[in-house]
Amino acid sequence: MAETTTKDVVTEVGTMKRSHYGMIINGERTESVSENKYDTHNPATGEVLATVAKANEADAEKAVQAARNAFDHGKWRKYPVGKRSRVLNQIAAIMRERFKDLVEMEVLNSGKSVGAATVQINQAIEDFEFYAGAIVGHRGTVNNMPYGFFNYTHKEPVGVCAQIIPWNYPMMMAAWKIAPAIAAGCSVVVKPASLTPITALLINEICHEAGVPEGVVNTIPGSGAVVGDYLVDHEAVDKVAFTGSTPIGKDIMAKASRTLKRITLELGGKSPNIVFDDADMEAAVAGSLFGIYFNTGQSCEARSRMFVHDSIYDTFIEQFVAKTKKLVLGDPFDKGTHIGSIISQEQLDVIDGYVQSAVQEGATILTGGKAAEVEGFEGGYWYEPTVIVDVTPDMKAVKEEIFGPVVVVERFSDEKEVIKRANDTKYGLGSAIWTTNQARATRVAHQIQAGIVMVNSPFSAFPGTPFGGYKESGFGRELAVESLDLYMEDKSVLSYYGSKPLNPFGV
Ligand code: NAP
Ligand code: MG
Repeated sequence: MAETTTKDVVTEVGTMKRSHYGMIINGERTESVSENKYDTHNPATGEVLATVAKANEADAEKAVQAARNAFDHGKWRKYPVGKRSRVLNQIAAIMRERFKDLVEMEVLNSGKSVGAATVQINQAIEDFEFYAGAIVGHRGTVNNMPYGFFNYTHKEPVGVCAQIIPWNYPMMMAAWKIAPAIAAGCSVVVKPASLTPITALLINEICHEAGVPEGVVNTIPGSGAVVGDYLVDHEAVDKVAFTGSTPIGKDIMAKASRTLKRITLELGGKSPNIVFDDADMEAAVAGSLFGIYFNTGQSCEARSRMFVHDSIYDTFIEQFVAKTKKLVLGDPFDKGTHIGSIISQEQLDVIDGYVQSAVQEGATILTGGKAAEVEGFEGGYWYEPTVIVDVTPDMKAVKEEIFGPVVVVERFSDEKEVIKRANDTKYGLGSAIWTTNQARATRVAHQIQAGIVMVNSPFSAFPGTPFGGYKESGFGRELAVESLDLYMEDKSVLSYYGSKPLNPFGV
């Protein structure tokens, strides 16, 4: 009997809410060769949301081969840049049409509030639009040469890129990675976080609907330790772009050295938030509140170490705690909800472990400090927004990334001293300064060891701002024009045009 196979080629996204999601390899929805699948959850309720195909090494191999083939023999990188740009704009246009559905799926799979998801899906869309524009003007140089010589640089896509993304911003992180890579002409294999695979798969489908050729974007949900590791070690993968924890980032860097892959690492943080005595109190309280609690504190640039000047400490803390208590934990789809759920029970235990360790070490909790009960969401993972004071620099909760709605607060009295203390961390991703003194803002901004300094701003980035870290927060900058260069090689083409033949050996 002849075996019939129906290829499930992606030409249209169709319904977003499904009971099962296949992986995407070479433009087709497909199952694992092992036929394995796993449950993905809604962390706000703890309920199973859908099943997802679970990739293993053999699937990763298929995905790498598809990406390799698309890069080496396909047409995407050869398209005129204007055509690639139009396709990126088309991806953005389709995402805008499906905006509500994408937000819904992001909320369901991550437990984040609809407000947070709305901002993030919007930024994911703007990211494709940004790179659609940026790639058009992105070009090499013509360099000054001795007479008779002509040299220019040609920017070429780096090749096949493995893109490993975390669960805290599932769709936005996928966009941050896919948009510059495909704008540059690369092919990608996306490995979403196991906990939040759905919206990355949907972006991949939208890429195909918009006209990205098969094999250019592939997405394989599966275990990081298995599939992620396989991609990092693979000889046919030219680059790894990773966002996630610092320990895994270090492993990836070590492993990628075997094949000398290009790497960019966007890792953890413990970002200082410094409130000077001359700050606009209202703005500083509101901005600091957003700085730690946005996305339920599950942000790499969460401003989780707050330094408040002695002379305003009492007033500031009183207002900060009062506003913290006003934050609403509730139905993520309710527009009035500020704080969504934690991503998993495991992560909730990690957060609570840090809080309890601070208490044992002598710290005081002003509000929060325990798992939250949210009516109607008893099966989900929720944690109260938490303010911890009376801390010392050696406490675990002060030194390490908590990745939850928990802020530790310290006092300071002197600018020089607070800069030193703010820099006393192995991390260097975000930082925020609240002051109305422009000279001070600039002086401090230039001394903070971090890739991002927010001055009187609750927001850390927009498409166009370089996003990335110093020290153990990683290296490479995403979201900016220069990020395109992390997906490109500069080829130097040197030619001689003189009429007299050159004979340097003179023989
Ligand atoms: P993680 O282990 O670093 O995971 C991030 C991504 O890397 C996921 O896609 C993960 O896959 C994958 N991965 C895991 N092990 C891998 C390996 N050996 N080789 C290649 N890829 C691998 O982070 P997590 O476990 O989800 O969270 C732990 C902590 O990391 C958090 O508490 C937080 O401190 C930090 N974090 C930081 C960020 C950030 O934006 N900087 C984001 C998320 C988490 P699986 O999902 O299958 O494990
Ligand atoms: Mg992990």
